[in-house]
Amino acid sequence: MTRHQGRHFLQIPGPSPVPDRVLRAMDMPVIDHRSAEFAELGRAVLQGSQKVFKTAGPVIIFPSSGTGAWEACIVNTLSPGDKVLMVETGHFATLWRQMVARWGIEVDFLPGDWRHGASPGEVGAKLAQDTGHEIKAVMVVHNETSTGVTSRISDIRAAIDEAKHPALLLVDTISSLGSVDYRHDEWGVDVTVSCSQKGFMLPPGLGFNAISEKARAAGKTNKMPRSYWDWEEMLKPNAGGFFPYTPATNLLYGLREAIAMLLEEGLDAVFSRHQRLAAATRAAVKHWGLEVLCLEPAEYSPVLTAVLMPPGHDADQFRRIVLDNYNMSLGAGLSKLVGKVFRIGHLGECNELTLLGALSGVELGLSAAGVPHRAGGVAAAMAYLEGPVEANAPMH
Ligand code: PLP
Repeated sequence: MTRHQGRHFLQIPGPSPVPDRVLRAMDMPVIDHRSAEFAELGRAVLQGSQKVFKTAGPVIIFPSSGTGAWEACIVNTLSPGDKVLMVETGHFATLWRQMVARWGIEVDFLPGDWRHGASPGEVGAKLAQDTGHEIKAVMVVHNETSTGVTSRISDIRAAIDEAKHPALLLVDTISSLGSVDYRHDEWGVDVTVSCSQKGFMLPPGLGFNAISEKARAAGKTNKMPRSYWDWEEMLKPNAGGFFPYTPATNLLYGLREAIAMLLEEGLDAVFSRHQRLAAATRAAVKHWGLEVLCLEPAEYSPVLTAVLMPPGHDADQFRRIVLDNYNMSLGAGLSKLVGKVFRIGHLGECNELTLLGALSGVELGLSAAGVPHRAGGVAAAMAYLEGPVEANAPMH
């Protein structure tokens, strides 16, 4: 039986639910994007975004998905024939690698098991071997959305510094920014790539590049053809709060509101809320007797939890049963994880009660699908949430 009453639970790891406050902020007439009124909005979102990326440098906002922002990062910093070092953290790192290769760039792809983050030690060892400094960039996905594993960016930065290597550090924070502690300037990141539909709690449609002085300088001499994605074309009008082409005006209204919400709660409080909800989710999974895909506790994602299905049970069939019976979307396993994992998103507009609702849907679904498990996972998550807030460890 298919029942679709009540509010849909969008528990995929992005797009995340859009808060009513953001929806209302976007419900505005489209205004002239060359007007003084627009410039005020433009300046507010460009400056507000800097606070979320934690940078004093420019943040560029494209009307694009995250994939577009990936491409902007590549074409503004690298040249055909360059070599880069990437780490196989999962499906999204693999897709970014494919894109880099299509631009004629040679990729040294450090293999991974999709259950660990990028190893700072391995990155450092590769860079130490590269005495001729052929590697132009180290590219890492901060939160691998396909696996629920984070990579420790500050430690990767330390490994690059230790090797005294001049490579740029290019980081995908598409599913972490605004949900997981992240510091563009402090961690010496050269380009941070992100987008609107995850921690920013907006609909899809905005892509971001935060850029360091070193990255901008690389863009002035690199040899990659580009037009729409050119940073310099964007930065000139951005100085006055404008865009070189028609911007996604109403998404920018939403962005202004979303940034206000993040800053009102306080970024540290936002980060610890995500950690707390993630830990409660893991308490439920452990109680059910199922396995979390991430094998390294220091790398557990605060944004999503990927759960392995017991052998002989199909994760997609389970997800279908949950959707049909309880009106909840869970994330699918991607590429080599198809059918093997389901992903519970706990990011953006979520709190204890929405999480417990989602976990109830998972527990009901496990019973309905005949997946062997120990009942009481939701109660285990509640017990965790009854504990002290400061029990959460800091994340890198
Ligand atoms: N990188 C990561 C880590 C992602 O999670 C996603 C999408 O989920 C992407 C890149 C691609 O972003 P988009 O689908 O907005 O193009």
